[in-house]
Amino acid sequence: MHAVQFAEHGDRDVIEYAEVPDPEPARGEVLVDVKAGALNHLDVWTRRGLPGVDLELPHTPGSDAAGVVEAVGADVDRFGPGDRVAVAAGVSCGSCEFCRDGDPTLCPRFAIIGEHRPGVHAELAAVPAENLVPVPGGVDWPTAAAAPLVFGTAWRMLHTRADVTAGERVLVLGASGGVGHAAVQIAAHAGCEVFATASTEAKRRHAADCGADHTIDYEATDFADRVRDLTDGRGVDVVIDHVGAATYPDSLASLAKGGRLVTCGATTGPNPDAGLNRIFWNQLSVIGSTMATPGELDDVLELVWDGTLEPRIRETLPMSETAAAHRLLEDREGFGKVAVIPDSER
Ligand SMILES: [Zn+2]
Repeated sequence: MHAVQFAEHGDRDVIEYAEVPDPEPARGEVLVDVKAGALNHLDVWTRRGLPGVDLELPHTPGSDAAGVVEAVGADVDRFGPGDRVAVAAGVSCGSCEFCRDGDPTLCPRFAIIGEHRPGVHAELAAVPAENLVPVPGGVDWPTAAAAPLVFGTAWRMLHTRADVTAGERVLVLGASGGVGHAAVQIAAHAGCEVFATASTEAKRRHAADCGADHTIDYEATDFADRVRDLTDGRGVDVVIDHVGAATYPDSLASLAKGGRLVTCGATTGPNPDAGLNRIFWNQLSVIGSTMATPGELDDVLELVWDGTLEPRIRETLPMSETAAAHRLLEDREGFGKVAVIPDSER
């Protein structure tokens, strides 16, 4: 079979579509005939190399994929050949205090398929059965592949971590990215008034189409000032930020008294000025969030499968053109998710 691989960390030219032996499903694993994969910024970070994450090379990237069960290993009874499935990328130990308490995202041994362990951007992928969710017939493969990671992440940020309620004001930064466009839809569905930043007119139109009530061109105006203008000086209740150091000061400045900043990433750097004065005086909360629990994923995917929420696919490429998919992410071109289809499936 063919798999996306890189034998060393580096620029996009390290990515290959290599011929490798077919994987065998081990005990507890399911062999999936992959019909589509979706890219995340995590794929770019993993390719470049993350401090503290020592990968066995060559590494196959990819945290999101969907396809048909080809075979199951020993002790798998939840799935059988022919079942339609999507990958849920979070792996936990199942036995620590956090796992036993129902929140595996807090597991000290939490790992992500495609980041800390081999990924699923290949014609066939052997995946632990507990990392698969059923996909109803009628859901197309790129949609099934593109939903779990970003919609799960955004759902946990908004519903579990920020605990948003209808009528609250929510600012989503980088609304054109995977998590951003999911967060806009989830916040709008929750009845929030949604503010979204994006760099181009086309992206802002898409954000509005996803449910944003107000869109902000963060390159033309200081987004915190714009938020103040749009809210009569009050600010928003929640900011969804995955940008990091570049936006953190303005994210804090956009919050109303008692507001919550939820972060799931730091693309532009992890160490902004803490802004403690603003945090204590305005009684703000800065909240971290990573991935989603199986229960959260079930809740949000139900709304994806019935069409209430919809991953927007900006581009679908052959898997052999994964380097071009990385370029789309790195150049921040387009709106929503990039999908890849195994060349043999096209
Ligand atoms: Zn655990």
